[in-house]
Amino acid sequence: MSLTEISRKKSPWVIHVGTGGCNGCDLEILACLTPRYDVSRFGVMSTGNPKHADVMLVVGPVTIKYKEIIKNLYDQMPDPKVVISVGTCASTGGIYQGCYGHCGGVDKVVPVDVYVPGCNVRPEAVIDGLVLALDILNEKERKILEEKKAKAKGAA
Ligand code: SF4
Repeated sequence: MSLTEISRKKSPWVIHVGTGGCNGCDLEILACLTPRYDVSRFGVMSTGNPKHADVMLVVGPVTIKYKEIIKNLYDQMPDPKVVISVGTCASTGGIYQGCYGHCGGVDKVVPVDVYVPGCNVRPEAVIDGLVLALDILNEKERKILEEKKAKAKGAA
C-alpha cells in the first residue's frame, strides 16, 4: 500500500453538497460530526474546497439551477474521487420527482459510486457509505498507479 493510499484511507477529506432537498439528510450528515458519531475519530475531515476533497457527499435532488454548479465542483476535485448519493432524493429525485425545477437524482449529472438509502438517512448509514466509498477510492487509486507504472515502462 502506497503512502498516499494509507493517508487517504486514514484521513479522507469530504465535501458536503446540498443540491435542493428538504435539509433532513443534511442534518443527519451534520450529526456524523457531533460527539455521538464523531467521524473525525476515523480521520474524516470536512472541507469546503473541492480541490482538497476525495469524497463528495451529495444530498437532495438536483435542481436545474444547481446542475452546472455540481458538475463544476466535481470537475475541480482531483482524481481519484468518489461521489456518495445520500438519501432517496439524491438517488432518484425522491418526493421531488417530476417537479418542474428539478432534474432528478445526482447520477443524472455526475457519476455516483455509492448510494445511501433512506428518507431521511441515519448517520450510521452515512458512515457505512463512507467506509464503502473509501474502498472504492483506494481501488481507483491503485488503478491510476498501475496505469502510471505501465506508461513509465512503455516510455523506458
Ligand atoms: S431524502 Fe427525505 S430527508 Fe433527505 S432530502 Fe429528501 S425528502 Fe429530505
